[in-house]
This record gives sequence, C-alpha cells and structure tokens, in this order.
Amino acid sequence: MTSPPSTDSDLDLPVEEFRALAHEVADWTADYLGGVGSLPVLPSVQPGDIRSTLSSAPPVKGESLTQALKDFQDVIVPGLTHWNHPSFFGYFAMTGSGPGILGEMLAAALNVNAMVWRSSPSGTELEELVADWLRQLIGLPDSFDGVINDTASSSTLHAIAAAREMAYPDLRNEGMFQQTRGRIYASEEAHSSIEKAALTLGFGKSGYQKIQTDEQLSMCVPTLRSVIQEDIISGLKPVAVVATLGTTSTTAIDPVRRVAELAKEFGLWLHVDAAYGGPAAIVPELRELFNGWEAADSIVVNPHKWLFTPVDCSLLYCRRPEVLIRAFSVIPEYLKTPEKEVGRNLMDYGVALGRRFRALKLWFVLRYFGQQGIVDRLRSHVALARELANWVDAAPEWKRVAPAPLSLVAFRFISEKLNDLALDDANHRIMERVNGSGEAFLTHTVVNGRICLRVSIANLKTTKTHVRRTWELLQQAAASEVGLDG
Ligand code: PLP
Repeated sequence: MTSPPSTDSDLDLPVEEFRALAHEVADWTADYLGGVGSLPVLPSVQPGDIRSTLSSAPPVKGESLTQALKDFQDVIVPGLTHWNHPSFFGYFAMTGSGPGILGEMLAAALNVNAMVWRSSPSGTELEELVADWLRQLIGLPDSFDGVINDTASSSTLHAIAAAREMAYPDLRNEGMFQQTRGRIYASEEAHSSIEKAALTLGFGKSGYQKIQTDEQLSMCVPTLRSVIQEDIISGLKPVAVVATLGTTSTTAIDPVRRVAELAKEFGLWLHVDAAYGGPAAIVPELRELFNGWEAADSIVVNPHKWLFTPVDCSLLYCRRPEVLIRAFSVIPEYLKTPEKEVGRNLMDYGVALGRRFRALKLWFVLRYFGQQGIVDRLRSHVALARELANWVDAAPEWKRVAPAPLSLVAFRFISEKLNDLALDDANHRIMERVNGSGEAFLTHTVVNGRICLRVSIANLKTTKTHVRRTWELLQQAAASEVGLDG
C-alpha cells in the first residue's frame, strides 16, 4: 500500500509511535483471532467486576497507551463474552471475519462521515455499490434500492416510518395525534424490534397486533386476513405487515408470498425481516425459502449476523426510496450542496445524520469471499445444523421443537420423570451448566410456552468438533438432571 506524505503533529499520537502501536495491535489481533477458540466463551465475572478494577476518575494528565493496552489485555479481554469464538452458539452467532476487521480498521482511520455526497463521495458511492452487489447476490430485482444502517432495529424503524408516511400522506405537516389509529401486524414470533418501531412511531401497544402462528411457527395467513378485516370494520387503519424470514427463536419462515398477496389486497406496506436469514438467499438450494419476498416494499438483511461482517452493518432495501426520503429528509442550510440533484445524500434516508463508513468492511468481505466462497461457508453452517438436528432427533431424552431450515437448531430436554415446569427449570440448568464450562455458549427461548435451548451456527471457525463437543456437554448436563451421571 502506498501512503500519503506525513503531516505529523505532536498534538495527536505521533505517527511513528502510532505505527509501532498499530503493529503491536495488529499482532495482538492476529493472535487473538488465531487463539480465541482456547479462551472461555463466557467469562467468569460478576456484574461490577470490570468497573471496580478500573480507575473511576478520568486521568488528569495523559497516560501512555502502552498502559491502556495492558489494561485492555488484563481487565477488558478477560471480561468479554467472545462472539468470535467458534463455540459461541448463542443469540444469532456471527463472525467478525479477517477482511471485515481490516475494513473496519481502515474506516476508523479515515473517519469519514457520509452525511451528504460531498462529505464523502467514496463513502456514499461505495455504499450504493455494495448494497447493489448484495442485492444481486440475494436475487432481488433492481427495483430495490439499499442503504446501510447500524442495526436491523434501525432499518425496521425506518421501514415502518416509510409505511406510516404512505398511509398518512399529511403526517409530515399534521403529526400523528389527530390521525385515524393505525395498526402494524407481525407474527407472534417476530422480533421485538418490530414492536419497538411501532411504539417509537406512535402506534402504541394497541397499534401493534401479533398474529398467531401455525405448528411450523410461521404466520397464519387466514388469521391475518380476519384480523385485518375486523380492524377495518372497527374503524382502524391497517398500515403495514411484517413477515419474518428466519425468526429469532427458531428461524421459522413466514409464508411471504401469501402475506404479500394479502398486503396488496388491503393496500398495506409489506416489510420483510430477513435480518438473520437474508444471506441464505445467496445459496441456490435455499433461495426457494424466500420466494415472494420480491413483492415486499422493504426488506432488512444484516451482514453483521450471517455474512461475516463485524457489527454493525444492516442493509435496508426499499422499493420506494422516495417514500423513505419523504419521511426523513430535513435539509438545514449548512447541508445544502450543489450536488443535491445528482449525488445521493445518505442523511435523507433515515434518522442519523452522521454515518460511519460501513460499506468498506462489507466490500472487503464480498470481495475476499466472493459468491462461491460465501455459498460454501453458509452451506457448511447449514450442514452442521442438520447434523446436530439429526443427533437431537435420535436421542430419546431430547426433542426438537421446530424445523431447522437454516443454521439454528432449537430443542428441549425431556424426561418422563419430570413435569413441564420442572423440565423448564432443568433446561435452564442444563444451559447454565454448559455455559459455565466455558467451552461453549448457548441461549434459550420459549416455544409453545416451554423453555427450549438454541444452538446457532454462524461462525467461520466453527467445525463439527465444536458442535459435537457442545452436544456432549448438553448430554452430560442432562444426565446429571436425571441422576444418570453416576
Ligand atoms: N430481526 C431479527 C429476526 C433478529 O433476530 C434480530 C436480532 O437478533 C433483529 C431483527 C434485530 O437485530 P439488530 O441487533 O441488528 O437490531
């Protein structure tokens, strides 16, 4: 890499000192990435431990960064839950991959802020480009326009704001308070970010309606229809429906084609939450799970979940970007630029004015792995999940509680010796025991009212050995619940 000429100033960390520390940090990072698998996934710390070890007051005089880096290694790292650990199976597992980390490092150095095209021409145009690359990879038509947000929660908030803008054209002037009460629909398995968006945007709890799911934990479309019809009769205004492709608990897939037909019939905005599941559309044999999502008005896909990009990075695709702009654009004098008509101003697409250069890391990830590399890696995660699902299915003391169409398996320890409530407690204890081992980390959920455990596989370093070992730990912990551990 060629560097620009030095314009050093002692007011910042001197460049040569920065260089030496950056090499040190790069070495530490490489060692960390190579060795994270040997650390405990979950730290053995109690709330308050970290804070009480560190100085409670800021330094009056500057300190050497060597000391700060030492504290980082001695105090901060031992207090971390290691999301980049190959046996991290909790929540939705993910990977901060090498290419993504390098992109993040450079983005920090550049420190550009892509508010308007002029404030970061490359930041703006690279974001347009990578959003379009990902759109092509996941097979969406080019009528979808993408912008990058921090999280799916923000992307969904923006999507529902656009839906609200469509439903109440005089909202910008009149505000929300005098409007007919609106309703947002999503399945009872939908992520809490949908409800949060409904609350934030003034629909209130009563404006958010959860729709019952079927035995596959997918949204019941006939129920959705009857709820919408009843709402219309009651004088409420159906505004938007959210279909999830890959729910948080079990990766259930809502019947998006049928939901889209209903949305069209009743004139609702359709938002698709594919925050976790979306990247699976890159894999040819999984694409059919997404059939119909092209009819959505907006879709969220998070590269920071299952596409190897460090947190944070969430793509919001919208077929009506002009509605997003209508909902959000407010241009003060100091942000007026001559390029307004020709260059995109990313500040117009959401709440945030300032925006990090998130496109850089995603660009590195897509370039390094390429379509085939991504397909191979996602396929291997799905294969590992299927293998685990088979082990669970073959074990009499365990019951799978949901289909596993992607890379997550949800299951429950069962035993005739214990009633449902006692089994809930047992499942919690099993999870705590596995997590307490430091060898693996998983989280729980509730399916059909009962506590279940989830294993989410999405880390690039995860191999069959890690999944097999976790399964052994689960079985050992379960054996101790029924007194079979000798
Ligand atoms: N949607 C789904 C299906 C999720 O599982 C999650 C988080 O796990 C979210 C949305 C929210 O994601 P974020 O943390 O990016 O806001």
